[in-house]
Amino acid sequence: MPSPRQIPKPIVVEPAAEPTALVGRIKAAMRSLDAVLVAHYYVDGALQDLADATGGCVADSLEMARFGRDHPAQTLVVAGVRFMGETAKILSPDKRVLMPTLEATCSLDLGCPAKEFDAFCNEHPDRTVVVYANTSAAVKARADWVTTSSTGLDIVRHLHARGEKILWAPDIHLGRYLQAQTGADMLLWSGSCIVHDEFKAIELELLRREHPRAKVLVHPESPTAVIAQADVVGSTTQLLQAAQRLEADEFIVATDAGIMHKMRQAQPHKTFLEAPTAGVGATCKSCAHCPWMAMNSLSQLAATLEAAQRGEATQEIRVDRDLAQRARRPIDRMLAFAAARKVAPSPFATQGSQGMGPA
Ligand code: SF4
Repeated sequence: MPSPRQIPKPIVVEPAAEPTALVGRIKAAMRSLDAVLVAHYYVDGALQDLADATGGCVADSLEMARFGRDHPAQTLVVAGVRFMGETAKILSPDKRVLMPTLEATCSLDLGCPAKEFDAFCNEHPDRTVVVYANTSAAVKARADWVTTSSTGLDIVRHLHARGEKILWAPDIHLGRYLQAQTGADMLLWSGSCIVHDEFKAIELELLRREHPRAKVLVHPESPTAVIAQADVVGSTTQLLQAAQRLEADEFIVATDAGIMHKMRQAQPHKTFLEAPTAGVGATCKSCAHCPWMAMNSLSQLAATLEAAQRGEATQEIRVDRDLAQRARRPIDRMLAFAAARKVAPSPFATQGSQGMGPA
């Protein structure tokens, strides 16, 4: 399988534009297209604020999927990465799904090609296939279950209790975490997130010594040695909740830096430090920002919407109907499971309490 390390980071070119004017154009276009904006916590703060201001949502991948499915707007605009747009289309096949750019992908998705994954599954027919949401529609269509991180622990525990052996893909760190927490028999695909994989355990130890009162918040796509130092292991939503509920004034955060926007908005009196991704001597101590999430911008969004108004929906997500139906089954299974267990976004989790949430 291709290594995410071989994938070059895209170059982001942001044309100069006046944000206020752009926001006005975007709002007008959204009204004319009957559109709602669904944004991930990792995208630019201006897009998050626009989603909030226009009745959309800023959320993790599970809540983005639910919100888009349940919202009455005929056009869903997904600011995030491609698998999020595909999931929105799979769940809402009769709606138009647009993205600021279809070029925004994910190393986990890229590192798990459908053909190779299918062959891997065929070699292990005795295993239940469970895939993370960060995968293509074709990989989801090959799965028995789709999970986000919030549903991952409960689903894996449920399958383990039924005596099922699991084939997990694509994130190896998350897979190891689920395995350690549940004791399930899991065969792991070896994908990783190029952002979370970069967090450095030794550097994190040094930073903790400099800030001994800081609480450490870690997303479970991070390496095991980084997770081991966490006060809270959780999803974006759960890390946000932890930052609000814990009484500490200082936090070290090991996930995409985009989340700092909401953390600082919600808790302006607290200090949030980025967990280190680089060692001693580096001029930049942390570069934890997804290059694909960074491709979402106000100007890209305006261009997408105005092209759609002209009837040129070049940034529209399309998923083959038959493929979408097959991919929908394991997603619906997860959503039904989560609804039955009321995974909502769930309460934050502390290390040892075995909870986590969507990526
Ligand atoms: S942060 Fe990682 S998991 Fe999320 S979209 Fe970027 S590469 Fe994928």
